[in-house]
Amino acid sequence: MNQGLLSVDEALARLLAAAKPVPDIEEVATLDATGRVLAKPQRSTMDVPPMDNSAMDGYALRLSDLKAGSSLKVAQRIMAGAVGEPLAPGSAARIFTGAPIPPGADTVVMQEDCELQGEQVTIKKRPKLGEWVRRAASDIRKGGEVLPAGKRLAPQDTGLAASVGIKTLPVYRRVKLGLFFTGDELVMPGEPLAPGRIYNSNRFTLRGLCEVFGCEVRDYGIVPDNLQATRDVLRRAAAECDLIVTSGGVSVGDADFVKPAAEAEGRLLMWKIAMKPGRPLAFGEVGKAFFIGLPGNPVSSFVTFLIFVRPFLLRTQGRSAVEPKAIQARADFDWPQPDARREFLRVKWNAQGGLDLYPTQDSAVLTSTAWADGLVDNPAQHPIRRGETVRYLPYAELYR
Ligand code: AMP
Ligand code: MG
Repeated sequence: MNQGLLSVDEALARLLAAAKPVPDIEEVATLDATGRVLAKPQRSTMDVPPMDNSAMDGYALRLSDLKAGSSLKVAQRIMAGAVGEPLAPGSAARIFTGAPIPPGADTVVMQEDCELQGEQVTIKKRPKLGEWVRRAASDIRKGGEVLPAGKRLAPQDTGLAASVGIKTLPVYRRVKLGLFFTGDELVMPGEPLAPGRIYNSNRFTLRGLCEVFGCEVRDYGIVPDNLQATRDVLRRAAAECDLIVTSGGVSVGDADFVKPAAEAEGRLLMWKIAMKPGRPLAFGEVGKAFFIGLPGNPVSSFVTFLIFVRPFLLRTQGRSAVEPKAIQARADFDWPQPDARREFLRVKWNAQGGLDLYPTQDSAVLTSTAWADGLVDNPAQHPIRRGETVRYLPYAELYR
C-alpha cells in the first residue's frame, strides 16, 4: 500500500545528510545571546564558588572548639563581599550568606540554632563538620566546560556564562529563512474574501514557527500560480537566504508550479512521504540556498514543518541536538482505524496525566492544531487502545 512512498525516517535522513551549519560565527554580548546557538564550547577561567563560603546566615566556627562547651565568643562579623580575619581559637564569627569562611573555621551553624547573649553565642544544636559551608570549586572547576558548542542558549545558560565572567559569546549568525506562499486563492486578513478565496493562514503559522526558532525571516508573501512568478521569487529568495520554505503547489496538479520552477532554477527532488497528514514534500537547492516545499494544506504544512523543516533548520543553525524529545504517555482514547501511513495525531495532555485526542483528525481542520499541545507519533497500521502507551511529542519540546 505504501509502495512508491518514502518513509519519514528515510526522508529525514536524506534531509539531514545535506544540512550543514551556516558558515559565519559572530561575537555577541552575553546579555544579548539568549536564543542564539553557541559556536564554540565555553570553559571557566575560575573556580565557582571561588572560595569556601557560607550557605546560611549564622556563625562560623571550628567544630573542635565545641568540645570545651557550647558557648563561644563572637570575635568578628563577616558580610557577603567582605573578607574575615583568621578565626581565633575558641571564638566564632558572625557570618552572612555568601560571605567567605574565615581561615580556621570549618563549619557554619545557622542562626536559628544559636542564641546570642552579649558577645557570647550558645550553639543549641550540635552541627556536623562542614555543615552549611559551600566548598570552593564545588560547582565549577577552573578550566571545566560550562557550555557545549551547538547549544541554543537558554536564559539560564547566559546566566551561567556570566557567572564565570564571560562577557561575549561566539554564536552562529542567524539563519536567513525565506518564505513564500503559492496559491491564486489566497488573500490576507483585512482583504475582501471573494467567493472561492481563502485566507493565507499558513503565512501566520509558518512565519510564527520561524520566529520561534530565532530565524531572520524574509517573507515574500503570496506568489501567483504561474511559472514565471514562481521562478522569479525563487531566484530572488535564493540570493538572499540560506533556506527557503514554501507552502502549496508541490503536488503535480495543473496549478502546481513549484516543481518546474525549482527545476528550472536549481535542483529538486519530489518525495511522496508515507505520513499523515503530509505526503508531498519537495527538497532541493537553488543557488546557495536549500529549498523545502511543504504541502499547502494548513495542518500538513504545520506538521511537516515540525517533522522535517525543524531538524533541517536546527542543523543549519549549528545545533547539535536536532531530535525532538519524545515522551511515553498514556492514551486516554481509542484509535481503532489507523492509517496505512505513519500518523501524527493532534492530542492534548489532560489533568490525569493521559492524552486526549482531538475528535476530528481531518488534515484540513486547523482547529485541531490550536486545541492540541502536541502530536502522537503513531506507527503505520497501529490501532491504539485506551490505556496503551504511545509516543507523544509535546509542542514544548518541538518548539525548542
Ligand atoms: P496545494 O498544496 O497548493 O494543492 O494546497 C492544498 C490545500 O491547501 C488547498 O485547499 C489550498 O487552498 C490550501 N492552501 C494552500 N496554501 C494555503 C495557505 N497559504 N493558507 C491556507 N490554506 C492554504
Ligand atoms: Mg495550490
